[in-house]
Amino acid sequence: MLPTNANKHSGSVALVGAGPGDPELITRKGWRLILQADVLIYDALVSDELLADIPVSIPRMYVGKRKGQHSMSQEAICELLIKQARLGKRVVRLKGGDPLVFGRVTEEIQALQQAGIAFTLVPGITAAAGCAASCNFSLTERSIAASVRFVTAHTCDDRETPWADLARRDETLVFYMGLSKAPRISLELQRHGLPPDWPVLLVERGTQRNQRSVRTDLANLVDCIQQHRLESPTLIFVGQVVAAQQINALLKAA
Ligand code: SAH
Repeated sequence: MLPTNANKHSGSVALVGAGPGDPELITRKGWRLILQADVLIYDALVSDELLADIPVSIPRMYVGKRKGQHSMSQEAICELLIKQARLGKRVVRLKGGDPLVFGRVTEEIQALQQAGIAFTLVPGITAAAGCAASCNFSLTERSIAASVRFVTAHTCDDRETPWADLARRDETLVFYMGLSKAPRISLELQRHGLPPDWPVLLVERGTQRNQRSVRTDLANLVDCIQQHRLESPTLIFVGQVVAAQQINALLKAA
């Protein structure tokens, strides 16, 4: 199905969620749009495993950050999408996880709308859901976690994170982009009342072949990251759902 405002002579852009890395964790719709694409524009979070499955006949452009180099600015990415679509191409803009979760998709949608380019949004499996599945736990659990919060550890304007509000015992917290902010996460959650031994699970490259996961607690969070030399992309889960006995109980019940 073409985006509703598409006409067959002009190009279009599909903003597609690639999922957390396992190439099978992409939607059928996203995969179909990739196979029909004239050009693929992707960034660093799209896994090598998924990229390896995409036919080499589809031209691809990388717009992410390379080690030691700056990533392309958001503005330049928007311009590239518009330029490619104006050439009449079916563009797939592939983003890691779900583009609607910390995916900076709003800037791209607005730019496309202003340029009059047809677009469609295809959600993906966000890293939190992917990592929870591959580590065998549930993000919510009756009597333990009535809600789950996806928190960015990097607010773009450095707005104060509502620590008092986050330090609850009946929730699961999932910190995206949290590695460099781990000292703050550990300190503030304890300062606002969570115990030092409150459960934490770190998952690096979740759902990918080289996934690593380490269990720790709030007091030892920073040491644990250093000791295991965890790198991006890593998620920090905080809450009773990642306590060892909880995960074991789930496994026994399965
Ligand atoms: N849109 C993405 C999130 C982008 S923010 C999504 O829905 O998943 C980037 C952050 O996501 C990373 O810093 C990391 O914290 C997390 N992340 C993305 N993919 C991950 C993966 N496979 N394993 C662990 N964390 C991941």
